[in-house]
Amino acid sequence: MTDSEGYRSPAPSAELQRAMPYVPHGPDFGERELGQAVGRGWRRRCPACGTGPMMKSYLKVHDTCPVCTEELHHQRADDGPAYLTILVVGHLMAPLMGTAWVIWRPDPTVLATVFSIGTVAAALYLLPRFKGMMVGFQWAKRMHGFGGDTSETPERSA
Ligand SMILES: [Zn+2]
Repeated sequence: MTDSEGYRSPAPSAELQRAMPYVPHGPDFGERELGQAVGRGWRRRCPACGTGPMMKSYLKVHDTCPVCTEELHHQRADDGPAYLTILVVGHLMAPLMGTAWVIWRPDPTVLATVFSIGTVAAALYLLPRFKGMMVGFQWAKRMHGFGGDTSETPERSA
């Protein structure tokens, strides 16, 4: 079955429902496409519909999608986006700085200024996108209550 958004949600057979009574049988039943969800996360869009904005501010994730009302508050990106950002930006900037030094031999003040600005800009660009990718990944893999199982989601204060 494919809904108007092109979202694939095959209905479980009666045999499967008897065999696996704990599997959630809503319209959301079925495999979620990982690559699509992660790609939508990179564009900071809702992983379910791809049109609603995922973030309500720079890094804050909407509790529910403003378009399709998919619950997004189950996300637990935690330190993951920061880790990925440092990993990527560090591995880009360190060799670039060495290369720039060897090729152009710039004044150290110029080198430090250019690479400080470049590093901050790259980190600010990548951080919310990596967060979106992580939320999309968690949604696609039905982690932390995204699968409808609320037993492993403790109550959050504030
Ligand atoms: Zn949505």
